[in-house]
Amino acid sequence: MKILVTDTLADSGLAILRAASDMEVDYRPGLKGDALLKAVSESDALITRSGTAVTEELVNAGDRLRIVGRAGVGLDNVDVDACTARGILVINAPTANIMSATEHTMAMLLALCRNIPEAHASVKRGEWNRSKFLGTELDGKTLGIIGLGRIGTRITIRARAFGMRVIAYDPYVAPSVFDKVGAERVSLDDLLTRADVITVHTPLTDETRGMIGAGEIAKMKDGVVVLNIARGGIYEEQSLADALNSGKIAGAAIDVYVEEPPKDNPLLSAKNIILSPHIGANTIEAQDRVAVQTSEMVIDALRGSIFVSAVNLPFEGLADADAAPFINMAERLGLFAAQIISGPITRAAIELWGVDERLTRILSVAALKGMLTPRLAESVNFVNAEQVAQQRGIAIGATTHPTPLDYTNLVTFRASSATDETCVSATLFSEKNQRIVSVNNFRVEFKPEGTLLYIINKDVPGVVGKVGTILGDREINIAEYNLARETSGGKALAIVTIDSPLDSDTMNALRFFKAIEEVKQVRL
Ligand code: NAD
Repeated sequence: MKILVTDTLADSGLAILRAASDMEVDYRPGLKGDALLKAVSESDALITRSGTAVTEELVNAGDRLRIVGRAGVGLDNVDVDACTARGILVINAPTANIMSATEHTMAMLLALCRNIPEAHASVKRGEWNRSKFLGTELDGKTLGIIGLGRIGTRITIRARAFGMRVIAYDPYVAPSVFDKVGAERVSLDDLLTRADVITVHTPLTDETRGMIGAGEIAKMKDGVVVLNIARGGIYEEQSLADALNSGKIAGAAIDVYVEEPPKDNPLLSAKNIILSPHIGANTIEAQDRVAVQTSEMVIDALRGSIFVSAVNLPFEGLADADAAPFINMAERLGLFAAQIISGPITRAAIELWGVDERLTRILSVAALKGMLTPRLAESVNFVNAEQVAQQRGIAIGATTHPTPLDYTNLVTFRASSATDETCVSATLFSEKNQRIVSVNNFRVEFKPEGTLLYIINKDVPGVVGKVGTILGDREINIAEYNLARETSGGKALAIVTIDSPLDSDTMNALRFFKAIEEVKQVRL
């Protein structure tokens, strides 16, 4: 597999790519125009930073392209929708800079409280004015953190080490997270009125855009200090500048702006403010980590893993590799159902018993991927399976039941067409031990792997012998023969695991036998 790199990548990342013996690395930073299109058309993965525009044209040129790795966080230069439509996984490295942003917040806070930028400039000018730079201590002060995520929690731990009391507002985080890092859980109003220092660490969303405006500032203590190392626009910039100029807010430290670089921004001329040019993530370690994480994930993804930080998978939170055997099992259920049902599938639904309900979406996607694969092969994957199913007019459903049925966990997949319906269930006995335990209400127990025959026959004597003879005559070895029946003399199901696939003559020979109503070959 070939990985094309079109921007400079830290040596640590390149070393990882080059060490992968099953990958070929084409390192061509600065590649543009037709040469870029040609190189993309010959590659399985593309790694960029911000220098390459991953446009629809570029994506469409990538006949073999499966992965786009953005060595960084922002995706401004990547047409994610175009990638999704073609089933191309877009990977980025959003966690690589967490520690850098955390430390930048602490650096800005200390610099602000001790007037370091101004004091430095004054000494450089030849002045010696010690009384002008009267600072404040952090020890004993109350820090209010809005957004107790990855960065907010790390700041809590560091601020407490400085002797600060930490209060935090985050309506989307469990109380245990507050307890674990030692932050008091408070309402936004409480935080605004009690904090000596306020720092925001939320993403910029419709809810957080302008969440701190004139009304909120009015509730703050006089002389409060505020920081924004998260995203420009969480504070209303004009209201913040007004409060700095009036002295209501004693100081502000800002790394991010609504418009970057800032132009005609009232904060540029506000009093008691220190500014940095969005450098929260800019450290040698973060750059290295971005390159390492992106390279590792691109390799993992090319080798088939979906446990990567992808922005266009239709599910989240895949850090948990324990989900892998369930995902694999759901995919096999879809694959199995698609090969035994007749007619175009119009409806597909997954049902879970005793399985972590957070896995519902991913198991549904996995089953859809399996179901679509026999017809669409390579063009369907975890990125586009849902979209492809919808485009093919398939209604998708999912249900979960917290209490297990007869098995500690059970995953059922139902598919229907205009004329047929099929329902297959499987359980996971242990990490590598999957079993299909029910097919269309027949109780069975077989491993969903290899080549299988699905046979519906009349429950009359001689069927097993006849099947054995037909296969034996053609030197096809039977590995397992699973039988189930409705009632004596009614319909019976046989799942026969065979060592090699059957040709059409053998399939016809089986169909020719009167007692056999239906026979299908299933490959898993
Ligand atoms: P995160 O997703 O781990 O945490 C964000 C937290 O904000 C979550 O816990 C979420 O529940 C909370 N939140 C969301 N909406 C909220 C609301 N309305 N009120 C209160 N809390 C809310 O993100 P993170 O990795 O900690 O990053 C935090 C911010 O820092 C992001 O905006 C990120 O883009 C920014 N960042 C900036 C730099 C930089 O260079 N300055 C570097 C890295 C990250």
